[in-house]
Parts: sequence; structure tokens; C-alpha cells
Amino acid sequence: MYCQQITEFGKPLEGRSYETPEPTGTEVLLKVSACGVCHSDLHLWEGYFDLGEGVKLDLKDRGMTLPFTMGHEVVGEVIALGPEAEGASIGDKRIVFPWIGCRDCAICRTGDELLCQAPQTVGTRYNGGYADMVIAPHPKYLVPFDGIPAELACTYACSGLTAYSALKKVSHLTADDTLVIIGAGGVGLSAVHFAPSVVDCKIVVADIDEAKRQEALKSGADAAIDNSDPAGLQELMEITGGGAAAAIDFVGAPPTAQFGLNGLRRGGTLIVVGLYGSSIPLSLPTLPLMMRTITGSYVGTLEEMKELMALVQNGKVAPIPYTVRPLEEAHDCLMDLKAGKTVGRYVLQP
Ligand SMILES: [Zn+2]
Ligand SMILES: [Zn+2]
Repeated sequence: MYCQQITEFGKPLEGRSYETPEPTGTEVLLKVSACGVCHSDLHLWEGYFDLGEGVKLDLKDRGMTLPFTMGHEVVGEVIALGPEAEGASIGDKRIVFPWIGCRDCAICRTGDELLCQAPQTVGTRYNGGYADMVIAPHPKYLVPFDGIPAELACTYACSGLTAYSALKKVSHLTADDTLVIIGAGGVGLSAVHFAPSVVDCKIVVADIDEAKRQEALKSGADAAIDNSDPAGLQELMEITGGGAAAAIDFVGAPPTAQFGLNGLRRGGTLIVVGLYGSSIPLSLPTLPLMMRTITGSYVGTLEEMKELMALVQNGKVAPIPYTVRPLEEAHDCLMDLKAGKTVGRYVLQP
């Protein structure tokens, strides 16, 4: 098998070849058809998350060993099955649900595998889809995508799922409420697309990039605001008549989180999704006085992945823009992503 691997954090990915892996137990071997490049891959490649105040979460301390193959938005075709892999057949074309836990603890048994204390995520803990082959640990993590192009289907495993799960957390909002979606990159733009299927409220998009704001408006947003403009917050206050019911920050940087928080009305909720990093000062009395909630949302569950694919297959979700590039260009994709050049998603193809 061929893969593009991190051999040293922060250094260009390296193309390497290995023996074809033999699936054991319940494992399934898939030939990769497409793999999305996620912004969080940049952090994995750098080797740390910036926690703010000069503190870093070092991925070596989290048990990540090199060389490592990233890629958690994987679609492929089943080419070999372990002796106990029941429920999959050779030739099945499937999305690999990557957010897998130990499959054994109390949390995993409830289906909330992404809350497991011993995660076994494909592409962040176990070798992923920047490769021509990938192993899924069990057939139950293979999700059908019939009728959807593989290059688009792969993006639902993280970008789409993250957007869907975050939106579900505000699905109680009503037509009089406003939801602010901050950051209209890959995931944020997915959220703009899904929003009408999940929540019945007004959608305002905030992004510093004019092209992304235009794309968001074309995708159905009711309004778009430049959050880098000092007048942006006032504009949001006017549009919403005093603040939004909720904001989802798909960037997760100090200025975006602050914008989201400052733009909330009483009782409003800020959901931080993006992993850009660092920290913000938090005025504690405003939490009780304004009855605000700050919470986080991380990817989504296998159940949500299936719900999402049903929506996609029923034509309820417009496709996000994506650009297919050869697997060998994995590193260039990361660099272009770092430079913020993309509208939509890069998808690698072996
Ligand atoms: Zn991702
Ligand atoms: Zn577990």
C-alpha cells in the first residue's frame, strides 16, 4: 500500500510504500476512493493544539507515534474481510465512520463513542485515508452513500457530520430566532447548507472573507457580515434586534469566539466547534446576568452520521464545493489550507 505520512511534525509529508495489510478479527480492508483534507489535519501535522497563554497540547503526549497516516474523511471499496467481519461484503462502497471509541466501555455501549476515554479514531489515532488502502475496525462503522459521488460523500464523515451535530444542538430555535454561523470555510459552509433541514430560524453568516460571504449567501444564508469590520457587531445587533439566540463558531479563534459571545442576546448560547486555538478573557458576571451558555461540539455520533446521510440521499442537502487533487499533493493541500486559499473542501484521490 502507498500512503502520504507525517514522518516528522511540521515537515513535508512523505510518500511511503508498505505491504498490503491483512485484516484480522472484525477488521475490514478498503481500497480508498477519496479522502477529504480537514483543517484539523493541519494541527495533527504541526503536532500540537494551541491552548492559549503559551500552553500547547502536545500530540506526542497523547500517544501519537510517527510515521503516521492522517485522513479521517475516507470513502472506499471493501477488498478484504477479517474472519469475524460480518455485515460487509467484497465490493461494498462505504464511508468509513472514523469517530470510534474502545467499543467496550459504558460510554461506547450507549453509542457516544466520541466521548470514550480511549478513542481509536481512524486518521487521528489509527492510520487513515491519505493512502490507497485503509482498515476499518468493524463493519458497523461502514456507512452506505449510494447515489452520492465518492469525492463528495467522504466530506460528510467530518465536515458534514460536525456541522450537522452542531446544528442539532440548536434545533429548538424558532423562526423568530437568529443563528449566527461564524466561519464559512468547509464545515461552516456545510452548516449553511444543512441548516434548513435541521433548524427553522434565520441564518446570519459571519466571515472575514468576501468570497466566502458571497458563497454563503448563494447557499441560502439570510445575511452575511464581515466580523473583522469594527461595525460588524453593531450590524449583527441591528439585524437581530438585540442579539442572536445562538452562535456556532466554526473557527474557534479568539476574535471569532468573542464576536459570537458579544453577539448573543440574553439566554443565548455560543457553541465552539473550530479548533483554531488560543483563549479569550471571559467576563464571569455576564454568564449569570445574561444567562448565557458556552459549550463545545465535536464531530458527531454514528447515529447522527446515518441521519445525515439519509438527508443527503433524500436531496435535502446541497453539495458543498470541493476540489479533487492527487494523493501525492497531500502536503500542498495542507499548505494551501493553512494559507486559507480554499472555498469548500480539498479531496485527495489515490
Ligand atoms: Zn475533520
Ligand atoms: Zn469506550
